[in-house]
Amino acid sequence: MKIKLVAQRKQKPDFSKLGFGKYFTDHMLVWEYDADKGGWQEQCIMPYEDFALDPACCSLHYGQGIFEGLKAYKTADGKVTTFRPRDNFERMNKSATRLCMANFDVDEALSGLDELIKIEQEWIPTAEGTSLYIRPFMFGTEPFLGVHPSKRFLFTIILSPVGSYYAHGLEPTKLIVEDKYTRASIGGTGEAKCMGNYAASLLAGEEAKKKGYDQVLWLDGEEKKYVTEVGSMNMAFVIDGKVVTPMLDGSILHGITRDSAIKVLRAHGIEVEERKISIEELVEASAAGRLQEAFGTGTAAVISPVGTITYKGKDIVINDGKMGKITEWLYDRITGIQRGKYADDFGWVHGIN
Ligand SMILES: *Cc1c(COP(=O)(O)O)cnc(C)c1O
Repeated sequence: MKIKLVAQRKQKPDFSKLGFGKYFTDHMLVWEYDADKGGWQEQCIMPYEDFALDPACCSLHYGQGIFEGLKAYKTADGKVTTFRPRDNFERMNKSATRLCMANFDVDEALSGLDELIKIEQEWIPTAEGTSLYIRPFMFGTEPFLGVHPSKRFLFTIILSPVGSYYAHGLEPTKLIVEDKYTRASIGGTGEAKCMGNYAASLLAGEEAKKKGYDQVLWLDGEEKKYVTEVGSMNMAFVIDGKVVTPMLDGSILHGITRDSAIKVLRAHGIEVEERKISIEELVEASAAGRLQEAFGTGTAAVISPVGTITYKGKDIVINDGKMGKITEWLYDRITGIQRGKYADDFGWVHGIN
């Protein structure tokens, strides 16, 4: 690996006012793939700076780009860790395959990330709810017009010290069920963490915000009948004391936080069902007083309580708009495992130093 360090580090922002994804550290990792040069080149850690791109750079035209999101933590005794990083890189390779992009060696990606974090340790905030957000991404760089897979890619990792994802922290969010636009459908790219999925979801999100909602709850693309996910979070509901979450049907992203939540809940004797959940079932369960909690799962917010879900103009109010018991317990458990407060029974915590 080539390492080129900055002559002088940037001034750090106020770690008590980080927000999300606004500040970036001094260095980044860049790893180039070129099919004509035998594939993956040597990884490079270098100063965080602008890319120089050919205006015909294919991903700017045809969207061949994917990304990941995970977090690094520093514990009170100075231990630096990441959470399930191998799962992120394995998922990234699956996204790459779906978008006809080069796969990479997961171990090499992991060691590159560890090295980058070691160099950027001083950027890891330590206060409750803060972390160093890690953004690996990859995009096609071959300059051409015409639709075919790129022969060159740039795999990059940038780092951003972050506070809570939502401005109002753990306050329950308001969702609106989207029944006009679709995010994904079976056979599409919903399962891949690709840039285009987000671009395609923006308009629905903006329209929802104008109406006073935080996020859109997406329905399946075929029948607009079953709830799928929120677009940056998977969804789960508590009905009659049981946790139910939409099954992974090929259009839903395989969330790592979702998987962690399912495993933690089951290990503590809480039943979890993965199945189809129709929006009508939620309406009926709510009317019968059986819908007790709703929450989203995703790396950025970890566990995010949902207070209301609006469908066709009617509000489903969950737990009087307050965070539920299982939601709160799960938030404490998962963030506790991530921060070393609870034992890492699943082998999810990856030590760096
Ligand atoms: C990243 C993402 C999630 C959450 O996945 P995690 O691995 O838990 O962070 C959920 N849905 C979509 C569409 C995503 O892109």
